[in-house]
Amino acid sequence: MMRAYLTRYLGLFFIAAVIVPSVILSLMAVRAVNHEEAYLEKRLEKTLLEEVDHTVILLKNILNEIEKELSLTLDSSFQNGALSVFAQWKKSSSLVEVPFLLSKEKEVLLPNINQSLTNDELVFLENNWEFFSDQKPIPVYENIVDAYKDTILVESKKLKQKNRLAEKKKEVTLGYNYKDADKNVSFSQARYSSQSANIEQQQALNTFQESEPVRKEVYKQAKGKGDVLSYRTVLLNDRNRVADDMEQTEKLQSILIAEEFKFSEIIKNKSEGIIPRFIEGKLRHFFWKKAENGRIAGCIINEEILKEKIINTLPNVITRLRILNILDENGNPLVRFDDKTDRDWKRPFVSREIGEVLPRWEAAIFLSNPDHIRSRAHFTSMIMSILIFILFVSILAGGFLVLSSMYGEMKLAKQKTTFVANVSHELKTPITSIHMFAEMLKEKRQPDVKKQQQYLDIIVSETERLARLINNVLDFSRMGQKKKNIYSKRTVDLVELVKDIIETQKVRLEHNGFDVHFYVSCQELPVFIDAESIKQALLNLLSNAEKYSDNIKKIETEVLCEEGLAVVNIKDRGIGINPSSSKKIFQQFYRTDNSLTSRVRGTGLGLTIVQRIAQAHKGEILYFPHEGGGSIFQLRLPVHRSEK
Ligand code: ADP
Repeated sequence: MMRAYLTRYLGLFFIAAVIVPSVILSLMAVRAVNHEEAYLEKRLEKTLLEEVDHTVILLKNILNEIEKELSLTLDSSFQNGALSVFAQWKKSSSLVEVPFLLSKEKEVLLPNINQSLTNDELVFLENNWEFFSDQKPIPVYENIVDAYKDTILVESKKLKQKNRLAEKKKEVTLGYNYKDADKNVSFSQARYSSQSANIEQQQALNTFQESEPVRKEVYKQAKGKGDVLSYRTVLLNDRNRVADDMEQTEKLQSILIAEEFKFSEIIKNKSEGIIPRFIEGKLRHFFWKKAENGRIAGCIINEEILKEKIINTLPNVITRLRILNILDENGNPLVRFDDKTDRDWKRPFVSREIGEVLPRWEAAIFLSNPDHIRSRAHFTSMIMSILIFILFVSILAGGFLVLSSMYGEMKLAKQKTTFVANVSHELKTPITSIHMFAEMLKEKRQPDVKKQQQYLDIIVSETERLARLINNVLDFSRMGQKKKNIYSKRTVDLVELVKDIIETQKVRLEHNGFDVHFYVSCQELPVFIDAESIKQALLNLLSNAEKYSDNIKKIETEVLCEEGLAVVNIKDRGIGINPSSSKKIFQQFYRTDNSLTSRVRGTGLGLTIVQRIAQAHKGEILYFPHEGGGSIFQLRLPVHRSEK
């Protein structure tokens, strides 16, 4: 009772303690696995952005060097306007495409319109004289972070304060003492005020890049002030597109704002510089330098050479993981590959604008194999899923095995208890009757000789029953120990053996109201057996036929000679066996559950022993329902052919 109770609760405990947590854990693990791709992407994005930022710095340095080179190679005597100086300059630097000289009043002295001009010089004059003579202003680019540094810092402070306030509110509601936190704030503010302008610049840039609300506010203010805002050449990357956000455009706002200035305004307060200018959609660069007499010399920079210089300074353009490239004002890559993949150069994995001198240009990184992250994430997810699955199945299987073995153990323990009770009872019953009848005979209380004979018969049959029971128990324990050679086999005539058994049992069975029949289909049937064991098996079968017969008491025994097979059928007209139990009856301690079996005592070992004996003789024991009611037990043994 207690055990059944325990078992039921054990099942519930198992579900609660093992299955529920493992299901929850598995679900959590599966969720984590699903985010693997995004996580890998984020990590990679961070590393690659650092590389892009580094490239931007590199390019800015190259432009500085170009400016230096052009300034150094231009002889200071240029202010005299000697043609030879400019020819020499062009020779000494491949960057010089068309040199020019402007008078103090911004008149173009060189190339000289009155002399014969090359095609390049003609185009140059045509495109630029209006600009040089201050008749046509051009857009000058400025980094919005530089232009609005203070706004960004103020906005960022506001945002921080807002966040801090929200946090404080949280702390107050949670009942925390936040005095210490305040101290930290004032300390950091003190430190902040001593920061150099450079650091402030970096801070503003970081805030601008990281904070969407600050970005929005700054663009709003710039637009309000009439600055020209533009879009970048690169488009939003696939992974950053939000499918259900309809407002999201593919275009990205440029970090550069433009304002129109005349040439003289641009060069005011400076001695030399590089001016970027879009001419018919193409970005060109002018180098200029002021002389002491107010004249200005310069050149249009050879774009091919400029690009070449940039390409040559790019570190490790292609690696196994990524491709580093520079995109020009039209979004075309500077470094061309014929890797045949139809890469969308307008959608890099990460990119940054280079800056004021190279407006619309981008330093960009593309993944060498865009599917790499996906397949890596997929691979990791797959491995993790398999592991989770194996773990889950193992937990379930392990739990199931533990439970079922516990159930099995409990069942066995219960069967053993019943077995002990049954064996004691089975021993007690014959001993009681033997004792009773032996005492009656000893005290000569029964004068009738016929009755005396009957008493003796009962004593004999009860002794046999006792012997059989003890044999069964002994056999069972011997078999359990798996000892070898417990059988001493010899060739025996099975017909003779069965006939003997029936003859000895017939009197008692008939006395108990049984109709006993015996058929043999052949004269002789040699089998190689341990006669005592086979006898015990047949006695067990006969005893069962007797025990489990109720109204019709009829036992038929057949010995049949089949091809190479000796068959003994023991048929009764008893209660029969339910098909659902017919397989289990051979299990140890198993007894069917019905009114007769509960009345008839047994150990549940008889058929187990019969089966083991049959198997030890390379034979088998089968059960068939008897047509018309009852059971048939069939013992099949191989026929022994003596070699001649
Ligand atoms: P037991 O000591 O209970 O007889 P057995 O191993 O000999 O143990 O038999 C196992 C069970 O098989 C019995 O409890 C009984 O329910 C069923 N059984 C065996 N023989 C017969 C039969 N001839 N007729 C009906 N039921 C039988």
